Amino acid sequence: MKQNKQEEKAKQQKSKKDKFKLYKPKKKKSSEEDAAIQYLQAQYDKINPDAIKTFKDFPLSQKTLKGLKDNNYVTPTEIQRQAIGYALQGKDILGAAKTGSGKTLAFLIPILENLFCKKWTRLDGVGALVISPTRELAYQIYETLRKVGGLHDFSAGLIIGGQNLKFERKRMDQINILICTPGRLLQHMDENPLFDCSHLQILVLDEADRCLDMGFETTMNAIIENLPQERQTLLFSATQTKSVKDLARLSLSFPTYVAPHEQAETVTPESLQQSYIVCEIDEKIGILWSFIRNHLKQKVLVFMATCKQVKYTYDLFCKLRPGVSLLALYGTLHQEKRERIYNEFCRKSNVVLFATDLASRGLDFPHVNWVIQMDCPEDVETYIHRAGRTARGVFGKGEGLLMLLPHEEKIVEDLKKSKIPINKIAVDPSKVVAPQRKIEGLLSDNTELKQTAQRAFVSYVKSIFLMKNKEIFNVHLLDTDAYARSLGLIVPPRIRFLHKNLKGYNPPKKESDNEENEDVLDKLKTKAENDAGTDQSSDEEEKPIPQEKKNKKLTKELPKFDFHNDADSEEDEFLQVKKANVDVKPPIEEEEQNITKKKKKPLTKAAVAKKLLKKKIKVNTQVKFTEDGEAIEDEKKDVKSDLAKQFINEDVGGIDIEKAKEVLKEEDKYDKIRFREKVKAKHKEQKRKLKNKKKEEAEEQDDFGSQSESDGPDLSWLPDPDKIYGKKDSGSEKEDQSHTEDNSDLEEEKYHRPLKHKLVESKGIPQDSVAPRKKKKLKDISGSLSIQEAEALAMRLLQSQ
Ligand code: ADP
Ligand code: MG
Repeated sequence: MKQNKQEEKAKQQKSKKDKFKLYKPKKKKSSEEDAAIQYLQAQYDKINPDAIKTFKDFPLSQKTLKGLKDNNYVTPTEIQRQAIGYALQGKDILGAAKTGSGKTLAFLIPILENLFCKKWTRLDGVGALVISPTRELAYQIYETLRKVGGLHDFSAGLIIGGQNLKFERKRMDQINILICTPGRLLQHMDENPLFDCSHLQILVLDEADRCLDMGFETTMNAIIENLPQERQTLLFSATQTKSVKDLARLSLSFPTYVAPHEQAETVTPESLQQSYIVCEIDEKIGILWSFIRNHLKQKVLVFMATCKQVKYTYDLFCKLRPGVSLLALYGTLHQEKRERIYNEFCRKSNVVLFATDLASRGLDFPHVNWVIQMDCPEDVETYIHRAGRTARGVFGKGEGLLMLLPHEEKIVEDLKKSKIPINKIAVDPSKVVAPQRKIEGLLSDNTELKQTAQRAFVSYVKSIFLMKNKEIFNVHLLDTDAYARSLGLIVPPRIRFLHKNLKGYNPPKKESDNEENEDVLDKLKTKAENDAGTDQSSDEEEKPIPQEKKNKKLTKELPKFDFHNDADSEEDEFLQVKKANVDVKPPIEEEEQNITKKKKKPLTKAAVAKKLLKKKIKVNTQVKFTEDGEAIEDEKKDVKSDLAKQFINEDVGGIDIEKAKEVLKEEDKYDKIRFREKVKAKHKEQKRKLKNKKKEEAEEQDDFGSQSESDGPDLSWLPDPDKIYGKKDSGSEKEDQSHTEDNSDLEEEKYHRPLKHKLVESKGIPQDSVAPRKKKKLKDISGSLSIQEAEALAMRLLQSQ
C-alpha cells in the first residue's frame, strides 16, 4: 500500500511538472510567434507583385505556406500575385479576374494571415465573413479553406440553408471564419442571440456582383447594416461590379481595383473554345440528345433556363437511356440531394449534368470537357460564368456550345463587343437524331412525365416573358406550339399568365392554388416594386415575325459541328431570380395596387348588416331553383305527388330522412315522365330545324362535316334519363373532376385553346381533357393515328369508362 501511495505521489508530481513543461514552451512559442508576426508585418509594405515568383516570396506565416505546399500550390496565379499584397496591407479590394483564375485563394490567404497576425482565438468570435451567392459555392470555399488553412488554430464554419439550424445555432459563437449564403446569415443575425460579429475584421463577397444584384438586395442591405464599419472588405468576381452605388452600400470609398486581365484580348479563358449554333426551338432536344449520344466518354454540363426544364429533361433522358450517367442540379431539390449530386459530378468523369444558373457561378467542377448553354443566357455576364465552368485552373481546357434561336442571335454582337471570341458553326442535320416518337410514346404512357413536360413548357415561356432584354427575349417570337411538340406534348398547355397579360389582365377575385401563378405574380410584384420600368412590351404583339425566323436552312459555309469527336462512343446502343428588374405592363401594376387597396379596407359585420338593410335584402331566406336555373317561387306548385304535398304541408322542424326518401321516390316517377317529354320535344324541335336547314342549304354541310344529311341528327349523346337518375353523381364525372383538381397545369390545357391548337387536337392523341360527348368524333379520327397514338387513345377511353 505504501509503495502504491508513493507511486501515486510521484505520478502527481510528474504530471504537475508536465503541465509546467507544457505551459512553458507555449509561452516561448507565443513570443516566437510575436516576433514572427512582427517580422511578417514589417514586410507588407515592401511587397512588389512583379517580384513574386512563388508563394514563399510573400510574407506569409509558416502554417499558410505549408498548407499551400501540401496542396501543390506553388506558383501564385496572376490575380493572387497582384491582390494578396494589397490585401495583406489591409486595403479594400475590387478583384476582377477571369473564371478559373484562382480568386478563391486570393482572398482566403489574406483572411488566414489577417487573423493569424491578430492572434485570433476561438473566444474572439467571428473575425472573417465570406458571403457566396449559392450553397454549393460556399461549400467549395469552405473545403478549400479547410485544406489550405488546416494548420491554423481557427475554427471555420459553413452556414448555408437546408441544414440543421439548431445545430448551427449552438456552434455559432465558436466560429472564427464564417462561410455563408446571404439568406441563412441574415436568419442567424435575426434569430440567434449567440451570433455576434461586432469584432469582424474582414468581409469577403465572392461573386460580388451577383451578391449585390437585385435578387439579394434587401438581404444584403440588412446584413451590411449589422456589420461594423471599421473592417477590410474584399470583392471578387469575373464580372466585377464598379457601380458606385454598390460600393457606397459597402462603405467602400477608395478600394484598390485589381484586374490583371483587363488588357487581355479576351474576357474568357484562352484555352476555352467557344461556338454557337442557331436552330429552331423544336430542334433543341434532338440536338442535345445527339450531342450526348456522341460524347459518352466526356464530362458535360448543360445549362437550361428553369428548374422545371432541368427536371423534365433529366427525367426524360433517363427514360430514353443515353448510355451515360445523367445528373440534375437545381434549386428546388432537397439539400442532401444537392450535395450528393454536386459531389457525384465532381467525382465522375463520364457524366452529363443538367443544371440551372445555380451552377453557373464559381463552381470548380474538375475537368469539365463541355459546357452547353441550351437556352440563351440572360446577359453577357451569365454567359461568361456558365462558359467558365470549363477550361479552369492553370492547365484547364474546354469547349463551350451556345444554342440560340434565330431571333436570339443578336446576343452574339454583345458577346463579341465584350471581348468573347465565339464562332458560328452549323449542325449537320443528317447527324441529328431526334427521338420524337419515343418521347411522345413515353408521355402518353406516363401522366407524371407529361405533367412535368407541361410544367417545363410553362416555366420556359414564363422565364422568357420575365427577361428584361425584350429585344432578345420576345415571348411573341417563340413558336410555342413547336416547342410543346418537341417536348412530346401534342396539345400545348395554355399559358395562362400570358393570356391575362395580353388582355389587360383582369384577375379573378380568388385565384386557384396554382403554384406557378403565384410564382409569377410574386415576381411581377417584385418587379413592380423594383422597377421604374419602361414599357417595351406593349407594342410587341404587333411586331411581325422576322424573316430570319422562317429561314430554317443552315448556312453551308459554316464549319460543321463535329458530333463525332468522342472516338469511343457506342452509337448503336440506342437520347431568385436575378430577373427581378423585368418590365411589367402598367395595367398589371395598377390592378395589383387596386387589389391591395381593396384588401386593406376593413369590412365589419355591422357594416355588412347596414348594407343589407339599406338594400332591403331579406337574409336567411331559402330560394330553390329549377334545373334551368329559374327560382321556384311556390314550391308546392312544383310537386306532383300527394305524398310530397302532404310532406311540405307538415312543415315540421328538422328532417325526417326516411320520409324524405319516400317522398323523393314518389316524385322521381313524375320527374322521369317529365324528362322523357322534354327529350321528345327536343328531338322534335331538332328534326324540325334540320328539315328547314336542308331546304335552305341543300348543298351545304353542317359545321362538323361528319354527318351525312340522310342520317338525321345524331342524338345518341343525349343522356338516358334512367341512367342519369340511377347514378347521378358517380363515375367518370367525378374522376374527371378529381383529375383537374390535382393538376392545375392540365386545367390550363382545357380552355381557351387557340384555333390552330384545336386542329392539332382533333388529329392527334386525345388528351385527358376530352369530354365524354366528343367520343364519336374521336372514333372517326382513330384511323389516322399511329400505333402508339391509337394505343394511348384506347387507354384513355378505357380509363374514362
Ligand atoms: P476562380 O474563383 O477565379 O474562378 P478558383 O479559385 O475556383 O478560380 O480556382 C480555379 C482552379 O485553379 C481551382 O481548381 C484551384 O485549385 C486552382 N488553382 C488556384 N490557384 C492555383 C495556383 N496558384 N496554382 C495551381 N492551381 C491553382
Ligand atoms: Mg471563384
